[in-house]
Amino acid sequence: MAGSPPVLILLGPPGAGKGTQARMLEEDFGLVQLSTGDLLRAAVAAGTEAGKQARAVMEAGQLVSDDIVLAILKDRMAQPDVQKGIILDGFPRTAGQAAALDRLLAEAGQRVTAAVSLEVDDEAMVARVSGRYTCGTCGEGYHDEFKQPATAGVCDKCGGTAFKRRADDNAETVRERLAAYHAQTAPLIAHYESQSVLERVPAMGSIDGIRAMLADIVGRVSA
Ligand code: AMP
Repeated sequence: MAGSPPVLILLGPPGAGKGTQARMLEEDFGLVQLSTGDLLRAAVAAGTEAGKQARAVMEAGQLVSDDIVLAILKDRMAQPDVQKGIILDGFPRTAGQAAALDRLLAEAGQRVTAAVSLEVDDEAMVARVSGRYTCGTCGEGYHDEFKQPATAGVCDKCGGTAFKRRADDNAETVRERLAAYHAQTAPLIAHYESQSVLERVPAMGSIDGIRAMLADIVGRVSA
């Protein structure tokens, strides 16, 4: 809608690059990344009631209930920085979440600006996700095989020396997460196609190449 801040959705299986590209869209366009995975991990770390309920489900690679995810997302969307426009990373993941998002946006006179489907090969995702880790200070992403820091043990971006790995980034759990994606999230591609906001992006190429394709899309839909 003219004048409304953009609402972008990144759809794709684990490892497709949603988090990486969302961080780049933050840098390139000043949008705000909203990752329900990050919000849930923060709730688990803080030991909140929602975090306690979500923990085992996340470690098993299954989806946390819509009620918990929606409560966490609504809280986040009530904060003022979302006025700059948002990139939803890892949300919605079910038909119920997509319907709830449509209603939430409609209440504010908004709608989804674009839903980008990052199209990748499943088998490659197992290798991508299994070796990944992030800087514990700035969140920059690395990979055992594909992207090591220039100086071993030191983050290229912020110089931090503490790194972390997610509990659910192992081959077995990734397969569960891929199955959950195909069963529950992939059908949302048709939902956004029917709203004429779907953009398919081939996402097996370089991070910078995909960044450029997303920049084109954001430029076009926010014009
Ligand atoms: P992510 O960081 O997006 O890969 O999410 C990590 C885990 O958090 C997922 O495997 C789910 O267990 C849970 N999760 C994140 N976002 C959602 C969501 N929108 N709906 C249900 N579960 C979610």
